[in-house]
Amino acid sequence: MRDRIYLDYAATTPLGNAARTAMLPWLGDLFGNASSVHGNGREARKACEKARKQIAEAIGAEPNEIYFTSGGSESDNWAVKGTAFAHQKAGNHIITTAIEHHAILNTCKWLEKQGFSITYLPVDEEGWISPEQVEKAITNRTILISVMTANNEIGTIEPVDEIGKIARHYRIPFHTDAVQAIGSVPISCQNTGADLISLSAHKFYGPQGVGALYIRSGLKIEPLIHGGNQERGLRAGTNNVAGIAGMGAAISECMEAAPNVNRSVREYRDRLIRGIIERVPDCRLNGPEGDRRLPGNCHFSFDGIEGEALLLRLDLAGIACSGGSACTSGSPSPSHVLDAIGLNPSMMNGSLRITLGRHTTRDEIDEVLNVLPEIVQQLRCMRGS
Ligand SMILES: *Cc1c(COP(=O)(O)O)cnc(C)c1O
Repeated sequence: MRDRIYLDYAATTPLGNAARTAMLPWLGDLFGNASSVHGNGREARKACEKARKQIAEAIGAEPNEIYFTSGGSESDNWAVKGTAFAHQKAGNHIITTAIEHHAILNTCKWLEKQGFSITYLPVDEEGWISPEQVEKAITNRTILISVMTANNEIGTIEPVDEIGKIARHYRIPFHTDAVQAIGSVPISCQNTGADLISLSAHKFYGPQGVGALYIRSGLKIEPLIHGGNQERGLRAGTNNVAGIAGMGAAISECMEAAPNVNRSVREYRDRLIRGIIERVPDCRLNGPEGDRRLPGNCHFSFDGIEGEALLLRLDLAGIACSGGSACTSGSPSPSHVLDAIGLNPSMMNGSLRITLGRHTTRDEIDEVLNVLPEIVQQLRCMRGS
């Protein structure tokens, strides 16, 4: 049987070698509660602190500004709710965008029910959000700006450095969901002036179920998880030592490999995009071209077909990709991101996200270019008959 072709790196990545090596001892003989005073505890604590340093280095932060969480969704929830409630005396207005991950959007919707007022900024047809828009939306009640570093569906890289400068000028806390961007886009908490940055290990070849939130030292924030005194009293719960060790090793490996990986991934992405445009009539590339697009992201709409059917046919051909984002596939509601960039319903339905990563080869891309045009044509014929 031919190997399956995995092209859904935006949904999750395979565990990298560095992460596995760092984790294995903690799934074997080594164990300990990082809060314990004895030797086992000290060893576990040492592993966590090493990872904290590795993550801090990757984004230009201090280790004591990194807080471990259960993943990107928790980090997003904490950043938004924690800031909203800590700053509610100063105001109740939050600025975000229409194309954030649901971990931000649904958190904001919930906050509306708690009396907060949210501005969901629109985006242009490439999913881009202009810093001027952000500035115009600021009121004297604004207590948080949250804009993602890069979009997980259509790959748009947002101008977070400029938005961060604006936020800083008005002294408003700025959060960025960098879950999809880290490793592909240089992220520095100094350049962005971000006060809060969400990360998730399984998007950069680390394990699932572990993430981190960068919190600029001095920023006021309420905890999301109450309990013990872990993570300097701001995030209770026994540390996931294996996961944390894996996350630290993964980010270091990712940063080291990034220049080479991004170069080849970008080259294969452009080969795929050009190939699809040449071979498939009536298609539309969603998101920007070139440097304003994540290196590994390719997202198309094919008029007149069902994305779900396309996914199944590709899966039968041994190719794993996504209909939009992993969190929305399987649900009939169209993507909020494609809606925000102004696609008509027919184009929205026929959308396909192909995301490339570290292990993607030219042969895999050529195989997609081989089978995809025919599948699209067959599905269109079935519809027409
Ligand atoms: C995957 C993802 C998340 C959620 O992260 P989990 O660790 O899966 O909870 C949040 N934001 C973006 C942009 C993502 O791509």
